[in-house]
Amino acid sequence: MDYELSPAEAAWRDEVRGFIRRNVDPGLASETRLKGNEGRGPLALRFHRALRDAGWWGIAWPKEYGGLGKSAVEQWIFIDEIESAGAPMLPLTVTSVAPTIMRVGDEQQKREWLPRINEGGIDFALGYSEPEAGTDMASIRTHAVLDGDEWVVNGQKMWNTMAHSATHNWLAVRTEPDAPRHKGLSMMIVPMDAPGVTVQPIWVWPGLRTNALFLDNVRVPRSNLIGDRGAGFYYAAMALNFERLAIGSVGMGRRMFRNLVRLVRERVVDGRPLKDEPWVRERIARLAADLEAGRMLGLETAWAIDQGRMPAAESSMAKVFVSELVQRIADAGCEILGLDGQLHPEEPTALVEGRMQWLYRLAPMLAFGGGTNEVQRDIIGFLGYGLPRK
Ligand SMILES: Cc1cc2nc3c(=O)[nH]c(=O)nc-3n(C[C@H](O)[C@H](O)[C@H](O)COP(=O)(O)OP(=O)(O)OC[C@H]3O[C@@H](n4cnc5c(N)ncnc54)[C@H](O)[C@@H]3O)c2cc1C
Repeated sequence: MDYELSPAEAAWRDEVRGFIRRNVDPGLASETRLKGNEGRGPLALRFHRALRDAGWWGIAWPKEYGGLGKSAVEQWIFIDEIESAGAPMLPLTVTSVAPTIMRVGDEQQKREWLPRINEGGIDFALGYSEPEAGTDMASIRTHAVLDGDEWVVNGQKMWNTMAHSATHNWLAVRTEPDAPRHKGLSMMIVPMDAPGVTVQPIWVWPGLRTNALFLDNVRVPRSNLIGDRGAGFYYAAMALNFERLAIGSVGMGRRMFRNLVRLVRERVVDGRPLKDEPWVRERIARLAADLEAGRMLGLETAWAIDQGRMPAAESSMAKVFVSELVQRIADAGCEILGLDGQLHPEEPTALVEGRMQWLYRLAPMLAFGGGTNEVQRDIIGFLGYGLPRK
């Protein structure tokens, strides 16, 4: 493949950059920095509204569903530019759940859910994990039983991030108790305001909020089971594949790296300019080369989708490489900045806006979000190279 952008792709990138210039100001960047994922700040919501107004919500969605019909490479360019600018990301509702509904939902389900997602009226939390089911999703115990025209759902989900602000849950539930474990699951849409849904906060290390979710005799219309009964394991795998494509973008890493290099150029420690330190220069050079490799992996994965393939091994490679690269950027940043780099973003003397210590605490999350890197390596082995599945 050609790693240079075509003239049309470069023109799209410039259009995205123009949009960012018009719609991302220091106030929005600062709100995103300080709020993390705790709710959505007013400026982030305004930015998302501007995206919808421009018709840019479903960038890679087909036009028949109200999307822009852009290619996977063009979506990758968009995500990369948005992340690089520090703007709020497109939600996984748009980049992971909607593309799955498009592929597996029946016509009525597509008509019911896709326009509402496109208008911004629906925001999903992702309900795969449970206390006893993480990597091993086939162990899911939350179950749904049909009662007339409704499913009655009972169980508990863990790490249900965004459940406190979401309108709906994209929930993996057991509907076929007698089938083999991974053929007994279905994907169901559960409104968060349904009686019997309870959300409990869990605060994690980088100051982010996730949740435990309890479902007690929650009644859901029969038609909210998306696609086929018993196919939920495969639908969740598809949605996770789309999720990994977003995690495998180097945009955020490049932004952090840019800020780090700016600081290295200017800062003098104990009378010695950082830029003259051989160990600092060596770390910077290594990260620069890795960022370029990460960019190529992401681009190649998107390009494979445009060729009509579902590049599971490639998207896992990009996800593993980029998530571990972000950890290396944070490691290097914290070492180079020293103690001053550990101050909170609200502290006026914090270096690089207090982001390096935040990145250091956030980065491990990227290594297990969307499926742990150990398991991604397994996927690369068996899907990419025919090695035995573990
Ligand atoms: C902050 C946070 C936010 C999250 N948000 C969400 C969310 O919104 N929705 C959601 O559904 N989940 C979410 N998760 C859950 C996350 O996806 C899981 O934690 C992850 O999938 C791992 O599952 P586990 O924690 O049960 O660990 P386990 O599956 O028990 O794994 C423990 C360790 O064993 C390794 N391991 C397990 N099986 C294998 C294997 N076959 N081969 C090699 N190594 C293996 C893993 O790689 C890992 O290192 C979140 C988790 C956290 C902490």
